[in-house]
Amino acid sequence: MIYDKSSGKIVDIIKNYARKHSLWIVAYGTGCGAIELPPTMTSRYDAERFGIRGSATPRQADVLLITGYLAVKTLKRVIRTYEQMQDPKYVIGFGSCTINGGMYWDSYNTVKALDRYLPVDVYINGCMPRPEAVISGFIELQKLIEAGKANGAKKYKENLDWYRENQRKVIKNWKMPDYNW
Ligand code: SF4
Repeated sequence: MIYDKSSGKIVDIIKNYARKHSLWIVAYGTGCGAIELPPTMTSRYDAERFGIRGSATPRQADVLLITGYLAVKTLKRVIRTYEQMQDPKYVIGFGSCTINGGMYWDSYNTVKALDRYLPVDVYINGCMPRPEAVISGFIELQKLIEAGKANGAKKYKENLDWYRENQRKVIKNWKMPDYNW
């Protein structure tokens, strides 16, 4: 462990080093940006050389990748998926749609700013972001993890009431188990 003067916190170097090189993602294609994942994960861009790979279930995953626009209907499933993931866990918003709704900015049924509903650690802008941009977003996440600053999950727990209020405003048929871990 070392003391980081800039943040005033103790950073666990070895744990964070291991975490940043083992990023298993939930393969949940929410929007059209998901089409960039096959080239990112396969031999041409080979994301696995950075320790990035797909996970079979949310409970084994570290990263929830939101690959574009989210319909209100999908948001409920995504929240449930996120809440089933174990700590440490991270969220990447992938594509302009996750930042401000993108080309769906005035749609009645699309979520505009993902970070009102889930704690986004890194955004990757573009429509749609190429594999180079996707990898660059993951490298940004790795830097945050190494510095002990990828704290989205902690923020979610600390501000759960605020997130719940926002989530319930758009999800009318709310029937979900309590988030308790
Ligand atoms: S940002 Fe572009 S590519 Fe991504 S989901 Fe939105 S419209 Fe599709």
